[in-house]
Amino acid sequence: MPTMDPYEVLGVPRNASDADVKKAYRRMARKNHPDVNPGDPAAHKKFQEIAAAYEILKDPERRARYDRFGDLGDARGEAPPPGAPPPYGGSRPGAGFRWSGDLGDLFSDIFSGGGGFAGSPFPEEEDAAAALTVSFRDAVLGGTVTFSTRIPRRCSRCRGTGRSGKSACPACHGAGSVVESETLSVRIPAGVDTGSKIRLPGKGRTEGGDLYLSITVEPHPYFGRQGDDILAEVPVTVSEAYLGAEVDVPTIRGPVRARIPEGTQAGQRFRLKGRGIENARLGTTGDHYYRVRVVMPETVAPEGRELAEAFAGLYRQNPRAKLPTRL
Ligand SMILES: [Zn+2]
Repeated sequence: MPTMDPYEVLGVPRNASDADVKKAYRRMARKNHPDVNPGDPAAHKKFQEIAAAYEILKDPERRARYDRFGDLGDARGEAPPPGAPPPYGGSRPGAGFRWSGDLGDLFSDIFSGGGGFAGSPFPEEEDAAAALTVSFRDAVLGGTVTFSTRIPRRCSRCRGTGRSGKSACPACHGAGSVVESETLSVRIPAGVDTGSKIRLPGKGRTEGGDLYLSITVEPHPYFGRQGDDILAEVPVTVSEAYLGAEVDVPTIRGPVRARIPEGTQAGQRFRLKGRGIENARLGTTGDHYYRVRVVMPETVAPEGRELAEAFAGLYRQNPRAKLPTRL
């Protein structure tokens, strides 16, 4: 679940009435309530998602906001105080930042005019948008990213009209806005994913506007991700898989000693509960899943050949016996 879609979570269409939303919430909350699913972490997680989705959809302002901008990451959208210390190993100047010059389709509605979204004290043309690429590490553990950006600011000389009397404003040459460079520090909450948005209050086109950052997360060469779960692969030897072993499984917060049971099959999947992403926004924690990859010795030696032939006699049946013969 990269970014929670409250409509999807509650299973209602985007045009569902308030009554339908409430009905869906009650039905799903009853079904997944922790009291009726004791000791079922999946149901508990689902229940929290349902509650979070309903929080958004029951509030007309938040719902309208979601409809326009999607999930804004940190629900409160608070920026850290300037100069706040980076919690994870320092800031990364210019961390893969790119300014989306024409703002792209994602944000076209922010500048489309029309008097602002429900509940906002500011007209939407005071906002600005930019894209920010963050490292896998910052996305899953949280962190602070410092980057330089260019924001089109409303021209203070002509107040955005582009005119100076009967001629073009000399400061903005009639554009009404001036592109300003600024170095910003943004706190990335743990659990952001590609498509998440982060709001920087007061950093929009005017002091009253906000800057919306659209987040792209760089892939990691080893760790994969599915929502807040981490997916990875652990190579083991033939004897470790056959006899069982204790191995160090790399996780996003360091290695975890785990037991591979005897008779483990290649491709078998195991879970390290709670070793996934601690999602700062949802308050939930994902799991770490790893798949076992059985690695053959690099060389084929006579003694290995004998052992392999002995192995061949241990199968109760042909491992391909249950395959279909054709389409
Ligand atoms: Zn001007």
